[in-house]
Amino acid sequence: MNTEIPKQCTVLIVGGGPAGSSAATHLVKNGVDVVLLEKEVFPRNQVGESLIPHIWKYTDQLGVSEKIEQQNFIKKSGGITVWNDQIHQILFAKYGYIRPGLHVERDVFDQVLLNHAQEQNASVFNKVAVKKVDFSNDNPVVTYIDKRDNVNFEGKIKCRIVIDASGHSSLLSHQFDVREAVVSELKFLSLWGYFKNSRYVGVDRQSHFMEELPSVPPVTFVMSYEDGWLWHIVLREKTSVGLVIHTDKLKGLDKAQREVFFRQRCLTLPYLRDLLRDAQFIENSLQFRPDYSYYSRKTCNKNYYCIGDAAGFVDPIFSHGIQNAFYNAAIATLAIMATLKTPEKSSRIASLCENRMQQFYSFSRSLSLGDYGRNGVSPDLVKSLIKSMPMLELELILVASEMTNRSENFKKIAHEAGVWDRLSEQHYDNNDPISYLSL
Ligand SMILES: Cc1cc2nc3c(=O)[nH]c(=O)nc-3n(C[C@H](O)[C@H](O)[C@H](O)COP(=O)(O)OP(=O)(O)OC[C@H]3O[C@@H](n4cnc5c(N)ncnc54)[C@H](O)[C@@H]3O)c2cc1C
Repeated sequence: MNTEIPKQCTVLIVGGGPAGSSAATHLVKNGVDVVLLEKEVFPRNQVGESLIPHIWKYTDQLGVSEKIEQQNFIKKSGGITVWNDQIHQILFAKYGYIRPGLHVERDVFDQVLLNHAQEQNASVFNKVAVKKVDFSNDNPVVTYIDKRDNVNFEGKIKCRIVIDASGHSSLLSHQFDVREAVVSELKFLSLWGYFKNSRYVGVDRQSHFMEELPSVPPVTFVMSYEDGWLWHIVLREKTSVGLVIHTDKLKGLDKAQREVFFRQRCLTLPYLRDLLRDAQFIENSLQFRPDYSYYSRKTCNKNYYCIGDAAGFVDPIFSHGIQNAFYNAAIATLAIMATLKTPEKSSRIASLCENRMQQFYSFSRSLSLGDYGRNGVSPDLVKSLIKSMPMLELELILVASEMTNRSENFKKIAHEAGVWDRLSEQHYDNNDPISYLSL
């Protein structure tokens, strides 16, 4: 394996999460020479364990579905929410999805994707952090710190195009000062940690021991409470529990106080305390993300593209993060291939791509925040996306947004996009609240 970082390449990718690794795979499959620099050693810790079945269409394109299936991640059939005391259940199969959602350990999932990119011929270097990119000439020059062998060596690599897939550190949005914090009533942060021996919620609405996973498929369990909402996601050997909390609630708390708060809350909240009654908190597993929802005003230019969380992130209530990363990687790489073929059109191609990216991020933000038209959302772009989506997919979104009391916004957009009548006709027999959960 080549351990020397080249002095130049065609596309330089910053970050080896799902956005960066999938962009790398698309490009190398099309014969583009790619170098990917990742500051961590994989497997590395990451949050975001609930995957919706939409991801399979992207993993099929990448040719990595089989490798994911071989991992035997936990398959989920849908979700159950308790929102303002109303219980709802969603089953993906009802909306035409043949393949399941997944609960994945992200360190393993992300490593499968990154290894796959490397096997396709992307040159991947771990423990190499990008510091900045100089765009003063047509060909960007990337400065990195190579931390392999525990030596902090500063090097440079020249390329035609940079992909920023650096996740929430949003390297280029910070460099260009175009990263905006979302302004919303739903101003959240997140605290999450892991438990051993939690019970889980099965598709039959009963609680089960971990040993029953092979016989009773789980659902993702989500619940609202007075400070925000929470998730409970059973993994193969542990369970991820996260509290999404109004920022004000944790003001001034240090790390130790946050842990006390988290553990106490988990043991007092209805349903959750029942699921955790025989569980043990895994010491030192608590993590915190204060820098929550944000977006980038500009994501694409003729010689750079920002994708995945590097371009934006919003409250993960709809589990859109990985889907978003895959989608943006796919369209950015189409744009890059077109640019490499027709460099004279590079600015035009980048602005078309910018539109598509902003469209998807806008859609996610308007769904999750319920403030269609604010926070950089373009109503026209969102409407045109909705018009192009299959009815069943729209119905699933409607159900998910109704389950979490965020549907008013979606209904308004669907109405303005002219799809509401057809959608509501199809939908309203399907999803009445259910009456029990035996946890
Ligand atoms: C609390 C919370 C819950 C979530 N839940 C879900 C969920 O249930 N389902 C879902 O689909 N999504 C969820 N998400 C979102 C999901 O985690 C992200 O959308 C997803 O990880 C984005 O992938 P990415 O490749 O863009 O970024 P990342 O996965 O963050 O990868 C970025 C990579 O870039 C590397 N990097 C950063 N800076 C540099 C640098 N300067 N040089 C080199 N490398 C660098 C990092 O080490 C990292 O490996 C959640 C997010 C949060 C915060």
